[in-house]
Amino acid sequence: MNEIIKMSATTLAEKIKNKELSSVEVTKAFIKRAKETDPKIKAYISITEEYAINQAEESDKKIASGAETGELEGVPIAIKDNILIENIKMTASSKILENYTAPYDATVIEKLKKAGAVFIGKTNLDEFAMGSSTENSAFFTTKNPWNTEHIPGGSSGGSASAVSAMTAPLALGTDTGGSIRQPASCCGIVGLKPTYGRVSRFGAVAFASSLDQIGPMSKTVEDSALLLNVIAGFDKKDSTSINVPVPDYLETIKQDIKGLKIGLPKEYFIDGLDSDVKKSIEKAIEIYKKAGAEFVEISLPHTDYAVAVYYIICCSEASANLARYDGVRYGFRAECDNLLDEYQKSRGQGFGPEVKRRIMLGTYALSAGYYDAYYGKAQKVRTLIKQDFENAFKKVDLILTPSAPTPAFKIGEKSSDPLQMYLSDIFTISCNLAAVPGMSIPCGFSEKGIPIGMQLLARNFDEQTMFKAAYSYQQATEWHKQFPNI
Ligand code: GLN
Repeated sequence: MNEIIKMSATTLAEKIKNKELSSVEVTKAFIKRAKETDPKIKAYISITEEYAINQAEESDKKIASGAETGELEGVPIAIKDNILIENIKMTASSKILENYTAPYDATVIEKLKKAGAVFIGKTNLDEFAMGSSTENSAFFTTKNPWNTEHIPGGSSGGSASAVSAMTAPLALGTDTGGSIRQPASCCGIVGLKPTYGRVSRFGAVAFASSLDQIGPMSKTVEDSALLLNVIAGFDKKDSTSINVPVPDYLETIKQDIKGLKIGLPKEYFIDGLDSDVKKSIEKAIEIYKKAGAEFVEISLPHTDYAVAVYYIICCSEASANLARYDGVRYGFRAECDNLLDEYQKSRGQGFGPEVKRRIMLGTYALSAGYYDAYYGKAQKVRTLIKQDFENAFKKVDLILTPSAPTPAFKIGEKSSDPLQMYLSDIFTISCNLAAVPGMSIPCGFSEKGIPIGMQLLARNFDEQTMFKAAYSYQQATEWHKQFPNI
């Protein structure tokens, strides 16, 4: 196996800058790997080979000429296919956008271009990012590189499996209720959802606007910090972006964690938690104790309501956001003689079953007479969930939980039972409701060899503390040095 594909993005960036490796050589190594393994894994909707090689050649020229280079000069990255790259197809894994070409760059893409990154391909997701397994993609299901009978998680399952299968050193995902952290956990990689407002959402397909965030997916914690350095920052094109200075996340990552207070919410360590998950988390706690962290039991008393609140809010916002796909303005159009039929048939044929379910649930929750009982009530409970976190962060610097209640389940195991599927987000959605940052880092394997992740949650805009705790754990363990055998 070519050594290049095992290297971290940080290492690749250094070697490309020092001219030890060329960007073309690196890009070709990942594309070759993708051509060999992706027919089995199916992480990519499209591999943008020509585009990537052109970008790589540009980076190599820049480096050869001694011109100023970016932080990710020449380094390949896979992009979830709900983020726009100008002139490249963007499907959101939906038939309704199957032939849609992006007319402009998302802000994160603009920033990545400036940093010199090379776009290697667009990755599969659950249609419009609605799901936890990528089984809701209109095109195909992505497989978990550690065991292809299992799901890679979702909705950013394509991005997670691409990084895990070493077909890209980095990827972008989006996270509305766990879609970066849960697939990262399933595939044994690092995934981070930034504080709401930290990274511009401009040019990402809107699912639930008060919850959506774009974030990094990577093999190591340093790579996550490096990528967040590039994509974070205020953007006037996104009215929910917040103008808080962006620190250099790499600068503080190696700091000591002695005395760091970590909370263990009692509501997350419940009976029924998978025993392999429980064991891995307990071992991680021991490692943190050795490094000098202190553990405190805390309570997030409204946790029980989080799944219900999340599904009311995300469906309501989705029903409003997806109204724009009317067969006229974007993508797929069913040809009919009158306008109403055209709307109905375009949407009827263009959207898949999960998307339709959510539009219907959301439309119902927002309708006159039900608004106060559902959407209004959910917003109030959301405030209580937010307050739970504010109170907890008065006592602790970080919160540690499992990322998901079980390791990645088998393909098909939950696809006929939406409620079971919704429950796989139980540990990740409160973070989005409270707007705080969260990340999943690999912390072990189940007896069957499926990766397990743990989640760290931090105060708003305190990704720095999260990074240094994640890094400290990573340095004490070997999980990030293991690769699936495919
Ligand atoms: N699995 C969750 C859902 O189905 C979260 C999705 C996401 O974060 N995009 O809504």
